[in-house]
Amino acid sequence: MKLIIEKEKCIGCGTCSTVCEKYFELNEDGRAHIKGSVLNEKTGNEELEIGDKEAEGCIKKAVESCPMQCIHTIK
Ligand code: SF4
Repeated sequence: MKLIIEKEKCIGCGTCSTVCEKYFELNEDGRAHIKGSVLNEKTGNEELEIGDKEAEGCIKKAVESCPMQCIHTIK
């Protein structure tokens, strides 16, 4: 699976890093950053390969609580 943040939509509220600090932090640019992710230069999104189990933990909470709905897990 892939964990993705649509960086352009992020408002830097910090919710994701609060509920799931293992994977998310706020960057110097005031937007969320997925720890260990790579930047997709075509889309401007950050992407990280994760397992199905990881997607069920705090990542799921972050997906559900992001006010901009800019965090996604896709197969
Ligand atoms: S919860 Fe969403 S809007 Fe808030 S910092 Fe995280 S990715 Fe950005």
